[in-house]
Amino acid sequence: MLFGRKKRKPITIPSKQVKEWKYTTCNYCSTGCSIEIGLSEDKKIVTTRGHAGADVNRGKLCIKGLLEHELFESPGRGTEPLSREKHFEKLEKTTWDNALDTTASKIKEIQEKYGKDAFAVISTGQLVTEEFYTLGKLTRGCIGTNNYDGNTTLCMASAVSGYKRTFGLDGPPGCYEDFEHTHCLMAFGSNLPEQHPIIYWRLKEALEKRKFPLIVVDPRVTMFAQFADIHLPITPGTDCVLINAMMFVIINEGLQDQAYIDASTQGFDEVKALVQDYDPKTAQHICGIDEDTIRNVARIYAKAPSAMSIWTMGINQSTHGSDGVANINNLNLITGNIGIPGGTSLSITGQCNAMGTREWSSCSGLPGYRYLENEDERQEIADYWGIDVDFLPKKRGLAQTDIFPAIETGEIKGLWLVATNPMTSMPNTSRIRKMLEKLEFLVVQDVYEDVETNQYSHVYFPASVWAEKQGCHTNTERRVNLIDNVLPPYANSKPDFWIFNQMAKRFENSKTMSFPDEPEGAFNEMKELSKGTHNGRPRTLDISGMSYEKIIKARGIQWPYREEDGQSTSLKGTQRLYSDGVFPTKSGKANLLPIKFYNNNEQPCGEYPFWLNSGRVVEHFHTRTRTGKIGNCNKFSPTAYMEMNPDAAADLGITHQSYVRLTSRRGDAVVLVQLTQRVPRNMVFVPFHYHDCVNRLTLGLLDPHSRQPAFKQCSVRIEHVDQAEAAKLNVERRTY
Ligand code: SF4
Repeated sequence: MLFGRKKRKPITIPSKQVKEWKYTTCNYCSTGCSIEIGLSEDKKIVTTRGHAGADVNRGKLCIKGLLEHELFESPGRGTEPLSREKHFEKLEKTTWDNALDTTASKIKEIQEKYGKDAFAVISTGQLVTEEFYTLGKLTRGCIGTNNYDGNTTLCMASAVSGYKRTFGLDGPPGCYEDFEHTHCLMAFGSNLPEQHPIIYWRLKEALEKRKFPLIVVDPRVTMFAQFADIHLPITPGTDCVLINAMMFVIINEGLQDQAYIDASTQGFDEVKALVQDYDPKTAQHICGIDEDTIRNVARIYAKAPSAMSIWTMGINQSTHGSDGVANINNLNLITGNIGIPGGTSLSITGQCNAMGTREWSSCSGLPGYRYLENEDERQEIADYWGIDVDFLPKKRGLAQTDIFPAIETGEIKGLWLVATNPMTSMPNTSRIRKMLEKLEFLVVQDVYEDVETNQYSHVYFPASVWAEKQGCHTNTERRVNLIDNVLPPYANSKPDFWIFNQMAKRFENSKTMSFPDEPEGAFNEMKELSKGTHNGRPRTLDISGMSYEKIIKARGIQWPYREEDGQSTSLKGTQRLYSDGVFPTKSGKANLLPIKFYNNNEQPCGEYPFWLNSGRVVEHFHTRTRTGKIGNCNKFSPTAYMEMNPDAAADLGITHQSYVRLTSRRGDAVVLVQLTQRVPRNMVFVPFHYHDCVNRLTLGLLDPHSRQPAFKQCSVRIEHVDQAEAAKLNVERRTY
C-alpha cells in the first residue's frame, strides 16, 4: 500500500496495425526528434516511431516521443470555449465568437481604463513558430501592449542573455555533430540522459567510437554524473567561481589561444585581471572543488585540440545565470573553442520550440532577433506589417517574471496565458495564486481545460494539440523542422494560429495588416524578414532558402540557410556559427566579460538546514499537463518524491519510502522519501513537475540580466508527518 493504491493497473503496449506513416516532429523537448505517426486502416492513430532517416534521432525516440500519439485523445482535453463572469463561478460552454468577442472587448476596456500596458500576454515555448510570429504581430501590432513575454523566461532567458552579451546575438553556435569531433566535453548543470535522452544517445554513440574525457559539473550525482570520467560536485550557485579558477590556471600557465583572442575577441585584459582573484587555493573553499581537481580539469580542457561545453538549467536557473553563460563563453573563447568542429558553447534548450519563440515571437523585441530599442528596426517592421511606427514601444516591457508582481501591485489588470501553467511552474505558488485571483480578466488558452491555472480564468480557449496543427520548430542546434497536421483538431478545439488570426480581426490595426490564413503564409513572411544585413554583415538568422517541402525532405535544416543556398541542391544548412571568427557585434569581435561572483542566494541555516534542488525526470515534461495524462509515462513516475542522503535521514529518524513534510519560508509540501547517495548530506532533490509540490517552497530570486528565477537554490527543513494522512493526500493528488 505504498502509494495508498490497492490494485495495480496493467502496463499496456500500443497495438501496431499501421496502414500509413505520417511525418512530424516531437513536441516535447528541444532535441527535435523526427517522428512518424502510424495510422490504421480507419485513419485512427495507433503508434509512433522515430524517423530512421532524420539526422537528429536516427530512428530513436525517448519514452515521451514513443507515447506521444496518446496525446490526441488524452483525458482533460478542452472541447469547447468556456466563459464565466467571476473566477469562482462555474465555467459555462460558449461559442468561439462569444469567447473571442468577450476577450477582445475586455482587453480594450482594460486598456482604455488603465492604459495599454495594463493588459499582459504570456506565451510559451510549445507553439509552432508561425503561431509565435502571428501572436507577436497581434500583440505588438494590434493589441499594443508592451507587457508581453514567454514562459521561456523560466528556462532559457539566461542562455539568450549570455549569448547576446558575448556574441551580440542569440543562437547556439554549435551542433550535435560536435560530439563526434570534440576531445573534451564539459557539462554544467545538465542531466542529459534524463532531460534530453536522444542528445545523450548521440553523445554516447560518439564516445563509443572515440573516447574523450567527459566532465560533469553538478551538485547532485545525476545519471549523467555517474557516467562521467570526472564529476565535480559543486556547491550550488558557484559555477562562476569554478570557471574563473579554471581561467586563472589557463591564463597563468599560458594555455590560452592568444592568436584567437587577439583576432576575434575584446576584453581579455579585464578578464585576465579579474581571474587573479580566483586562485584555485581560494576558490576551492567557495565552489567546493579541491584545488588539484580545478587545475587538472582546466589543463585537460585547455590542452584538448577541441573542447566543448554544454549546459541546461543548473546554469540558467540561477541569480547569475546570464553571468554563468557569459563565463562559459569566456572559457571557450580564450581556448579558441568557438565555431570549430568539436569546440563550442552549446546551450541545450528546454522546450521543443523555445528557439522558435526566441527567433520570431517578438516577445523581447521584434521578429528575427530585431530590437525595439533600434529605431531602424522598428521602422522596418512597422513598414512590413503596415502599421504606424509610433504604435511600437521604444523599449522592451516587463519580462514574464516581472509581469506577475505587477499584477500584485495593480499595474496589470488583465492577462492572456497561452500554453503555460504558472500555477505549477512559477516559484512560490501561494503568491501566484493570489495574483491570479486579483486579475480583472484572465484568458487561458490551452490544449487541456483541467490545466491548474484554468481555475482562475474568465474565458478558456481550447487549443489543438501538436500534430493537429502545421508549422515549424527550431531545435537546440538551430534546425528548423516541420510539424505536419496528421489529424483534424479535436472536438471544437482550434489551432492557436486560427485563434490569433480571429482575435486580430477584432482590432483596428488589422485592417491595414496582413494575417495569412495558412501557417505557410506566415512562414513566407518570416523568410522575407530574415534576409538582409545586421551591423553591415548578412543576417545570421536567415531562413530565406527554406520551404516546407525542403524541410521535410531534409528532415530539418539548420539556419542560416540563405536564398542562394535554397537555389543549390544542398539541404544541409549551416552546422556552426562564427567559424570565421567574426561575430555579429559592432566591432565584429566577441566580448570577453569579467564575471565577478556574488553570493545572494538563500543558504541553508540552522532553521532550514538543507539545500533544495529541483529538476526533471525522463517520463515527464514540465508541469505534466500532457505526460500526466499518458498512462505509461505517469505509471513510471506517478508521484512526487524527494531524494535524501541516508546519513542525513538517519540523523532525523527518517526511513526510505516514508512521507515527510518539507517546509521553506514560503510554504510546505508533502513528499515520499527516496534514500540515495545521489545527493549530499545537506541537500534534497524533488522533481519540479508536480502541482502543489516543489514550487510551493521555492524562492525564485531573479537574475538581473535575464530575469530568470533561481529555482535551484533555496533552503528547507524536513519534518515528520502522519503516514496514513500523507498516503491519502497522495492518492487524491494522483487522480489527475
Ligand atoms: S528526446 Fe525530446 S524530442 Fe526526442 S522523443 Fe524525447 S522528448 Fe521528443
